[in-house]
Amino acid sequence: MFSSIQNKLFRNFSLATALVFYSFGSAYLMRGRYLLGGFESFLGILLTVNYILHRKGNSSHWSYRILVSAVYMMSLVIFLTGGIADSGFIWVLFIPLITMLMLNPREALIWAGTYSCLIVLMILCHLFIRPILIYDSNQSIQSLIVYLIFVYLTGNNESLKNAAREKLQDQNRELKRLSMTDVLTGLANRSRLNQSIQGEFNRFERYGTPFSLIMLDVDHFKNINDTWGHGVGDEVLVALSLAMRKYTRKSDVVGRWGGEEFLILCPETDGESAGQLAEKLRVSFEKLEFEQGFTVTASFGVSSIGPKVTVNSFLSEVDRLMYLSKEKGRNRVTIADK
Ligand code: GH3
Ligand code: MG
Ligand code: MG
Repeated sequence: MFSSIQNKLFRNFSLATALVFYSFGSAYLMRGRYLLGGFESFLGILLTVNYILHRKGNSSHWSYRILVSAVYMMSLVIFLTGGIADSGFIWVLFIPLITMLMLNPREALIWAGTYSCLIVLMILCHLFIRPILIYDSNQSIQSLIVYLIFVYLTGNNESLKNAAREKLQDQNRELKRLSMTDVLTGLANRSRLNQSIQGEFNRFERYGTPFSLIMLDVDHFKNINDTWGHGVGDEVLVALSLAMRKYTRKSDVVGRWGGEEFLILCPETDGESAGQLAEKLRVSFEKLEFEQGFTVTASFGVSSIGPKVTVNSFLSEVDRLMYLSKEKGRNRVTIADK
């Protein structure tokens, strides 16, 4: 988003600056100042070409640098020669603004810092060592003060903007994370699972990369809620989530599909390996003993992706296999025959 705003800014700035260069270039030429007029007109043409190349898709970074360099050169020349009616120092005031707008903060600091040092040194030299500029002391001191105020205000404004932008980006990242996370367990939520499954499915269709799904549902969970209360039921879900995290790989996506039903996406994993993981989880659940003295079990369905399958039919299949485990007496793993 920022780069599209910056591109727009660049284009407007380029056109406006080229127009100014052409106008002043002609004015100088008409006054017989051919060198200055010619140079300014040349920079106008340079900016026009730069603008056209940028529109045709040339690297923005270089286009920005060319624009900034042209403005630097022209303002320096006008500053040194005094420009029209000795007003040359006015054009130096654009430097901090255009640099901050066009370049990234670090590069802007180097460019504007170097340029500012040059201007300040020249004015100081002009004032205290020997006259090298055409301005009188009053003009020199005032232009120096105004220039430094401009540098300070633009720099300050830019750093505040950057801090606000970074904060916004952090908040956006956090919002995105929250929108993808199940509040109770901290696992992926259904929307994140759907997204990840679709991503794996696309990879499978494009490259044939296999992946598997494990769906599991806690057995007789209603009884736990009814006997020990909803709070204990929640604790059970959290404990099972921790176990699932412990036994799965970092690349697996463990998520809560809904209620007491969970789904694990195992990328680059065949049905047999996913079945082994499901069995490991089943045993680890059985071994969990809660402080109230009860244990829980879960029923699993496992399947790996195959040809002629859609995301929905694949999900229906693991769901069906999980229910098959329920029907067969619960606390078991059913793997698809392939
Ligand atoms: P089955 O073995 O057939 O799966 O039986 P079950 O009791 O586990 O299944 P059922 O669908 O009858 O009940 C699921 C229960 O899970 C009902 C619902 O109140 C409870 N539940 C769903 N979400 C939560 C939750 O976030 N916290 C708690 N404590 N309970 C939940
Ligand atoms: Mg259940
Ligand atoms: Mg259920």
